[in-house]
Amino acid sequence: MVERLIASGYLRSQRVIDAMLTVPRHLFVPEELASQAYSDEPLPIARGQTVSAPHMVAIMCEALEVESSHRVLEVGAGSGYHACVVSLLAAEVYSIEREAELAELARRNISRAGCCGRVEVVTGDGTLGYPEKAPYHRIYVTAGAPEIPQPLVEQLAPGGKLLIPVGSRLGQELLLVEKLESGELRTQKIIDCVFVPLIGRHGWKS
Ligand code: SAM
Repeated sequence: MVERLIASGYLRSQRVIDAMLTVPRHLFVPEELASQAYSDEPLPIARGQTVSAPHMVAIMCEALEVESSHRVLEVGAGSGYHACVVSLLAAEVYSIEREAELAELARRNISRAGCCGRVEVVTGDGTLGYPEKAPYHRIYVTAGAPEIPQPLVEQLAPGGKLLIPVGSRLGQELLLVEKLESGELRTQKIIDCVFVPLIGRHGWKS
């Protein structure tokens, strides 16, 4: 899987390559789908949700340029796979998931994969961020939003970066928002994408 992601140009930096080589994706998918765990596709987990395709995890990790001193917020824990990969790049990861059943699944998976010391999974509406541990050097959202939730911008540290899919329910643009030291925001499009909807106070209503 990793060799194919390198050959396709999705994986470039050694730190991200090492992190994706380390985390066993088959521990994050239902047992009956374990044989498909290393193909480059999203897979169903539970509650109608999916673990993102490996190339999307690679694109997001490369775009975020996470450093080993960083505190990171993930919105949308799902299976816990993406948070586990990022935990190998960062100092600490907080992941907020609106579905209690998925938050529990993510905790179990993360623990089985041995990343539990560096990731805390919280149940709640991630469109509100997680002010308890703010500010964050990096924030990324793994569900598609109608617009950028203001609380996430507020909880981003100066110099920090936010990665979020923004658009309609059918398709989005993955946006990288940089908060300059002055507080000004600079936004760049990374790629077109399709994510499940971000549901919450500052997301879709249902
Ligand atoms: N990162 C995940 C992984 O590695 O398995 C994949 C996440 S899945 C594509 C998107 C997740 O976002 C779903 O688990 C969904 O329940 C969650 N979600 C949607 N709206 C949310 C919200 N407002 N707050 C937190 N999580 C939310």
